Amino acid sequence: MPSRPVFVITGPSGAGKGTLIKGLLERVSGLEIAVSATTRAQRPGEIDGHDYWFLSDEEFTRRVQVGAFLEYVPYVSGRRYGTLRSEIDRISDDDQVCVLELELEGALAVQADVLGSVTIFIAADVTELERRLRARATESTGEIGERIELARQQLEQAHRFRYMVRNDDLERATGVLAAIVTCELARVGTMSRP
Ligand code: 5GP
Repeated sequence: MPSRPVFVITGPSGAGKGTLIKGLLERVSGLEIAVSATTRAQRPGEIDGHDYWFLSDEEFTRRVQVGAFLEYVPYVSGRRYGTLRSEIDRISDDDQVCVLELELEGALAVQADVLGSVTIFIAADVTELERRLRARATESTGEIGERIELARQQLEQAHRFRYMVRNDDLERATGVLAAIVTCELARVGTMSRP
């Protein structure tokens, strides 16, 4: 039987990846999101071990050295983000299908290295991205500017991924995402349990 798929949701900051994944998990059973590690500061309301594993720079480096990451990247403001192999193992041991939310470089690395990875790029127009980032107000004005500039460049990279979903309407985009995941699961014979 083909290997179990790993779904990689990618796209610019502010495209609504987190909200879409939440909707996806409500619609398709048998999926579990891998909790990434990051050196960025915890935002109000975020829980360590749930939203991210929040690590110091030293701890992140130590884990890089022991090969704990499937992939990791430096992002804006020198913050690092990475996918822990232990999360992939935990999800697979639970007999669930893994969902990763990654920025583009990490998604391309997983697409190249992980057999059975299915990459899905979430796009939104730049004005909407900017509106969401400013409404979220979790970064400084300078960092928002940096994220928007990066988003402009990233939107041109959509063609490098297997699927593209435009998040112009949340309900429609969640439906499209769920349909892609359901079809891929059916294709490899790992249909989610009811
Ligand atoms: P945020 O700071 O808004 O939570 O995340 C910033 C960006 O990092 C987002 O595009 C998010 O998808 C990405 N990201 C989160 N975790 C990981 C990870 O483990 N690896 C990679 N490559 N990117 C990640």
